[in-house]
Amino acid sequence: SFTALRAASTWANVPQGITEAFKADSFEKKINLGVGAYRDDQGKPYVLPTVRKAEEKVVSSRMNKEYAGITGVPEFTKAAAVLAYGEGSSALDRLAITQSISGTGALRIGGAFLARFYPGDKKIYIPTPSWANHAAVFKDSGLQVEKYAYYNKDTIGLDFEGMLSDIKGAPNGSIFLFHACAHNPTGVDPTPEQWKEIEAAMRAKGHFAFFDMAYQGFASGDIHKDAFAVRHFVEKGHNICLAQSFAKNMGLYGERVGAFSMVCENAEEKKRVDSQIKILVRPMYSNPPIHGARIAAEILNNPELYDQWLVEVKEMADRIITMRALLKENLEKLGSKHDWSHITSQIGMFAYTGLTPEQMDVLAKEHSVYATKDGRISVAGITSENVSRLAEAIFKVKG
Ligand code: PMP
Repeated sequence: SFTALRAASTWANVPQGITEAFKADSFEKKINLGVGAYRDDQGKPYVLPTVRKAEEKVVSSRMNKEYAGITGVPEFTKAAAVLAYGEGSSALDRLAITQSISGTGALRIGGAFLARFYPGDKKIYIPTPSWANHAAVFKDSGLQVEKYAYYNKDTIGLDFEGMLSDIKGAPNGSIFLFHACAHNPTGVDPTPEQWKEIEAAMRAKGHFAFFDMAYQGFASGDIHKDAFAVRHFVEKGHNICLAQSFAKNMGLYGERVGAFSMVCENAEEKKRVDSQIKILVRPMYSNPPIHGARIAAEILNNPELYDQWLVEVKEMADRIITMRALLKENLEKLGSKHDWSHITSQIGMFAYTGLTPEQMDVLAKEHSVYATKDGRISVAGITSENVSRLAEAIFKVKG
């Protein structure tokens, strides 16, 4: 009967999300490694001092609150382009660029543009695995989503051969999405040498490269190093498109500051692409928010603030790199026989531990350590205070 069927609540088997499970846990030393945002060494959200200063300047200049144009705050997009492509890049005077609702919005504009205008297959290849939102964003933009090999779970490293072979095996003129640096969720990036081979394979096939750069500077601590792949492709003649986010490298998460850009063949083509981007954006959200973009523009265009920002980005990256080293060191001190070198060779906010979903369950239930089931931990959630307890928990679960 209906009542018998309803004996257990209809949603009895809906699992609890990690954020909720973490909140519900009353253990004082619980650890949350699920968040995709930077935390300081006290485990607290961090607002960059340069962001505070830039924001004060923005507020005290008492600018009006008129709408920005469809493509946003020009002082921001101009500077964002230089940050990504590099001072003096040949891309800059043939670049169509628009401000976007952070990185996600940039991906969405790019997906919609390709769905409308790409002359080849309206299909995008994304890495296996990829940021969980990629497939959804591109599907909703009207593209078909395919996968290419990326991660080798046996080596907890890059499946470089598989990746190259999928690039070579795809129909000529296919669209490939690359994480420019700090691949999410694996933390596994190609080396510069490997990027060169990837570029050559892409060029040989006439493929189109879409870069998602959500972590410039945040990965290595060096904005130029992290932009290597993007700049190398442009230098080799690829007219790429690019999604930029300032969520991580400026800690502007909730301000939603980003940019989408398309390298065009020449200034005339840029004009046409620009106008079509406006036609795409207008019915989506008319024009982007101004406050965060003004803060980012202030930082990027004020030499003093800019230099200080570079130091602050590096401090965030360095804290993460230090926590990786400490975690590995602690595991080894405990006598773990596993090879943990991937913890320090991986880069960016996330580390793939290689732990199974079952082991991640035990980590949560018995040790109050919360992270996603795929074994990904947010290194930003590790502190000098909790790293030894974390290592002990991982050691107890995995050995
Ligand atoms: N791409 C990747 C790979 C990401 O990890 C993220 C953030 N988690 C984004 C894009 C977009 O983030 P946002 O929209 O906050 O800029």
